Formats: sequence, structure tokens, C-alpha cells
Amino acid sequence: MSTPLWNKNVKCPFCQFEFGTTRMRSSVIKIKEKMTDFGNIYDGECAYFYAVTVCPQCTFAALNKDFDSVRADYEPKVMEATKKIRQANVKKPDIFMLGSLTPEVAAKRHELAIAFTKMRTYSELGTLAGLCMHLVWIYRLSGNREKEMTAMAEAIKAYQEFHEKGGDLPEKLGEPGVLYLIGELYRRRAQYKEARAYYGRALSSKEIKLYPAIAEMTRDMMLAAKNSIGEAETA
Ligand SMILES: [Zn+2]
Repeated sequence: MSTPLWNKNVKCPFCQFEFGTTRMRSSVIKIKEKMTDFGNIYDGECAYFYAVTVCPQCTFAALNKDFDSVRADYEPKVMEATKKIRQANVKKPDIFMLGSLTPEVAAKRHELAIAFTKMRTYSELGTLAGLCMHLVWIYRLSGNREKEMTAMAEAIKAYQEFHEKGGDLPEKLGEPGVLYLIGELYRRRAQYKEARAYYGRALSSKEIKLYPAIAEMTRDMMLAAKNSIGEAETA
């Protein structure tokens, strides 16, 4: 039987430093439960923890596939930032260990990846939104409610921008799925009016017929939001 974690040697595209990073084998990922905002609860190691690679020398961080494929010569702002971090004797966060990671370290790595994604000239619009969702789920799984709420607010902003600018929507979600997800994040933040508005937009999307499962989830959660409003009013 293979172990879930393995170390891969990579080279930083910005400072050329070579280092080992821990990744999780996709063949051993076991999903125990799916959450209503499309996050997974895993059996065993949590796959989100190992989705980001961080260079220990210049701290450049990105989703694994982006770390391997980013074109450093197209990213002047990131180059400048990573150069500064290398030159100055700035204390770097303690997040560069190999092997099993804690949720705290995984969250810090994602926060770095989010900061670098915002700096990038070329990055798919969905990347930022996806990283924000990872952060939401990591904080939720570790029981940090306050940080989860903040991360959800950031994810809402990222998905709204993603939707407005017409990024390539994930095929399994389509437009209805993205609108539903924004609604769901609002509901989880107890912003029920906004939640219902986005559920409504999901249901009136012209693509909704292509996504029957999402239509059903949207109707269910629309009802949940309505009940929560009722409870808040009678409380
Ligand atoms: Zn580097």
C-alpha cells in the first residue's frame, strides 16, 4: 500500500532554488462527505493542505500546478517582491516543513498563495476564487469560525469578480453553480437577503436546465435561508 504523502523535488521559477515539497497522492484521496458549498470532508489526510507549494527561499507560493507552470518572465511584480524577500533579512514564516501539515500551516501557505495571485499579471480568474475556497474549508475543518467568516467574505468577492468578468467557469458548476455558491457563502455568513438574491439568480440562469443537481440544491438552500430568516424574526 502506498503512503498518502510523498516528497517531490521542485525548482522555484523566481529564485531557482531547488527544494522538496510534500504532496498528496490523488489515488489515496478518500471523500467522506460533501458540504453544501462543494467542499469535501476527507477520510484521512486532507487534500487541501497539500494543494499549495511554497518556496522556502523567496516565499513564492501558488497552487501546485501553477507553481510548476508559471512564467517568471511575465510576472515582474512577483519577481520584484520575491527579490526583496530574498535580499532583506526578513524573518520568514515557519511553514516550510515536509510531511504531514497542520491546518494552521496549510492556512498560512494558502494566504501567501492568495497574496501572490493578487500580484500576478497572468493568472486565471478562477484561481484566486479557488484558493479562497480552500482557505474557507481549512478554517472550517479546524473549527476557526472567525477566520472562516472572513475567508468566506473574500471568496464571495473573488467569485463575484470571476462571474462579472466572465472567466472560464468550472464545467461542473457552470453559471448556476457559481451563483449558487455565492448565495451559499452569504447564507453561511447569515446574510440571508443576499443569499436568496443569488439563489434566485442561479435559478433564472439560462443554463439552469443543464444543471439539475444544482437546481435542486439551490431550492433546498433557498428554503433553509427562508427558515433562518423566520427564526431570526421570531427570536
Ligand atoms: Zn523562490
